[in-house]
Amino acid sequence: MHIENNLYKRIPQVDKLMQHELISNCEVYRHEIVETVRDVLADLREGLRIGKIDKIPCDDDIAKKVVDLAGKRTREQKGIRRVINGTGVILHSNLGRASLSKAAAKEAVEIASSYCTLEYDIEKGKRGNRAGGIEKYLQNLTGCESSLIVNNNAAAVLLILSSMASDGNVIVSRGELVEIGGGFRVPDIISQCGCKLREVGTTNKTRIADYEAAIDKDTRAILKVHTSNFKVVGFTESVSIKELTTLGKLHNIPVIEDIGSGALVDVQKYGLHDEPLAKESLKNGADIVSFSGDKLLGGLQCGIILGQKKYVEAMKKHPLYRAFRVDKMTIAVMEATLRVYADLSLAERDIPVLSMLSMTDEALRLRVEKLCEEIQKNGGDVEVIKTKSVAGGGAVPGLELDSYAIALKGALSVEKLEKKLREQPVPIIGRIESDRLVLDVRTIFEDDFDYVAKAVADVSG
Ligand SMILES: *Cc1c(COP(=O)(O)O)cnc(C)c1O
Repeated sequence: MHIENNLYKRIPQVDKLMQHELISNCEVYRHEIVETVRDVLADLREGLRIGKIDKIPCDDDIAKKVVDLAGKRTREQKGIRRVINGTGVILHSNLGRASLSKAAAKEAVEIASSYCTLEYDIEKGKRGNRAGGIEKYLQNLTGCESSLIVNNNAAAVLLILSSMASDGNVIVSRGELVEIGGGFRVPDIISQCGCKLREVGTTNKTRIADYEAAIDKDTRAILKVHTSNFKVVGFTESVSIKELTTLGKLHNIPVIEDIGSGALVDVQKYGLHDEPLAKESLKNGADIVSFSGDKLLGGLQCGIILGQKKYVEAMKKHPLYRAFRVDKMTIAVMEATLRVYADLSLAERDIPVLSMLSMTDEALRLRVEKLCEEIQKNGGDVEVIKTKSVAGGGAVPGLELDSYAIALKGALSVEKLEKKLREQPVPIIGRIESDRLVLDVRTIFEDDFDYVAKAVADVSG
């Protein structure tokens, strides 16, 4: 009894432990850590009471335990956290679509944490144009007359139709009445804008004569929608943007194209076919073009509208624009991202989406060998396999890019392996394929290789 009492006395006080160097210097806030300190000390007391421990660890060891546990609790409480994407899906909608270039991310931090020229003209010392920098880059890259940036492409389409067609009807091919990523349904968007949908053609075939026959005095626009995540194969027929704009001009009706992913460079060379280019759409006469900023473009969530000045100016004055406009961080990121596009090799090096798409077989093989070697050095049990990556984000359905992956072995079941990697301090998200857990090296950043190697070795060794 006497000895036991002595041991209880050796448990440090909460206040004293809170002042321990490890605890006062750790990244968890004081108000978050104090509960963990109490819990760890209560555990020690309970351990003594039931005889599970017979000595009290030194303060350093107790403090380390507190810091580790508090770090874990804080991570688990966070709603949004960084993860490592081993799925091979480049634009994974659940994992935040595009990752930004380092330069764009740096710009976002700088602009967000100070004041900036959001609507201020330095030269004149007066109120200035919001997103003027972006407009210049978009003009150079696509030849557009005017542009506007809004919250996302769904907002872009809503603003375009509300501004251009709310008192009449919009003609759309039946084959393009799609639903895209989490509830963007073309018919619903159209009715939300107060327009009447005028469907033409059939699911698989629509001809120019179908459009022509549907035009009447209430027609305000013809809308062409990229079917993105959906493909009709077999006997199909659709009308090109060029034919539509010729018809539009004849009847003085504007033609709008929602191109979806919004490639600014020709992504065919990466194996992505059927992705409309913004520049091409405008060249083919589209009056207004819209696309997402965080798909193939590789920026932050936003929607970009390009086209004729008279329409864009009217959109800027529409009340919905005030509700859909983007913040200073998005403007900073998009400007920094677009800036790189003037030099394609720079864009392929710095913009993660483009660098992942443009990786050669050789580059992918070197990556997988490097990661495999690092894992084996750490004692992990893995093998290199061939796999397929996909673009994701609604770009090019069914198209797969040859890639390489690490396949995990070890004694655990594939579900257990998956869970263990998912529960790492920085979660590693893999893919289960033929009853194996695989990590596609295309979507894992090289800076994360050391971390992945240690974690994989831990769970597979
Ligand atoms: C992805 C997509 C949208 C929705 O874009 P968000 O930026 O996610 O709002 C709309 N239309 C098409 C054709 C798309 O591919």
